[in-house]
Amino acid sequence: ILDTLPPLVSDSLLAIIALVNADPNPDKIDVGVGVYRDGQGRTPIPASLKKAEKRLWEEQQTKAYLGGYGDVRFTAAIRPVALGRHADDARIGGVQTPGGCGALALAFKLIAAARPEARVLIGTPTWPNHQPIVAGSGLRIVEYPFYDRDGTRIRFEEMVAALKSGERGDVALLHGCCHNPTGADLDDEQWSEVAQIVAERGLLPVVDLAYQGLGRGFEEDAAGLHKVLDSSEEAIVAYSCDKNFGVYRDRVGALFVKTGVEAATKHAMTHVLQIAREQWSMPPDHGAAAARIVLEDPLLKAEWLEEVAAMRDRINSIRARIAAADPRLAFVAEQYGMFSMLPLSKDQVVRLRDKSIYMADSGRFNVVGMSNGQVDRFIAAVIEAMDG
Ligand code: PMP
Repeated sequence: ILDTLPPLVSDSLLAIIALVNADPNPDKIDVGVGVYRDGQGRTPIPASLKKAEKRLWEEQQTKAYLGGYGDVRFTAAIRPVALGRHADDARIGGVQTPGGCGALALAFKLIAAARPEARVLIGTPTWPNHQPIVAGSGLRIVEYPFYDRDGTRIRFEEMVAALKSGERGDVALLHGCCHNPTGADLDDEQWSEVAQIVAERGLLPVVDLAYQGLGRGFEEDAAGLHKVLDSSEEAIVAYSCDKNFGVYRDRVGALFVKTGVEAATKHAMTHVLQIAREQWSMPPDHGAAAARIVLEDPLLKAEWLEEVAAMRDRINSIRARIAAADPRLAFVAEQYGMFSMLPLSKDQVVRLRDKSIYMADSGRFNVVGMSNGQVDRFIAAVIEAMDG
């Protein structure tokens, strides 16, 4: 039976990982993979989280099932971080999920259960797992161009036109901050306009917030989401803690669902739980429990906020160094988060691999993939590639 499965095009990022692993050069530069690295090139566990894990190990008495909602204290503790002034809105329900992926999968399956004919408007390029997750829910995808790579700018007029072409009940998938793969975030005015169009057209906004704190700051990175929550009666937030808590493999996230009235939210959450039960029954506990301990302890929380600020500062200082090196790279300082796209052809990207520098074919690179000692070599090689 299984030999009838069609071949799949393998993920090109996986191919890059294989190339990196096969390169014996001890000073190879891997800016393909999407994890935060510090100045020494490590992906550390935040000290605040490590302390929380120790406390968890000492204090946890049982690993008996928690139930479909997961750790409700975790969801309550991350809620004010993500939702800000909307945290007390009883029309917003929340549930713990296995990472941002789990939250997105739940969100789109929920929408498909409510409105199978809904179309999902997605700006491209986007994180390459968005389309498969949406397609997995059975909903139809409508793509529109979001970013002009050569002009290094958001194609805002086209985004607006696409959203205006949406019909009542269609879905707008929006990156909350630190757009992956372009780093191009909407500014305040653009968010206001998008929030207004989404509300006027009766679209259901799904805000994917996977990098809060790593762009401009916690409040700032959720400012667009807050505008959307201000203007739309119904909205969905897919939240990931995997980057800002450095818990990638522990799979920590949350889904927030807003409807117009509390009773409707409660009803929607019964469906959310049913879908979660079919998918994973209940989310993994360890990472969320540790994150909860951090968030509930003022000292650990303060330490964590400082650690995230240090990650953000490193991202933005490397952005500034790259931008200062060449006017053609100045745009890198105007963008946020771990990724941007270099104005390189696929050929140029491939030739950089001869110098042990590895990034995605599209020119997307992880700004903090390189150690401090590798930044100058990286910049020089990119400039040479652009000239060549
Ligand atoms: N959304 C975006 C835009 C992402 O980049 C990622 C992770 N790379 C996710 C969601 C999912 O994150 P998680 O690892 O928590 O599932």
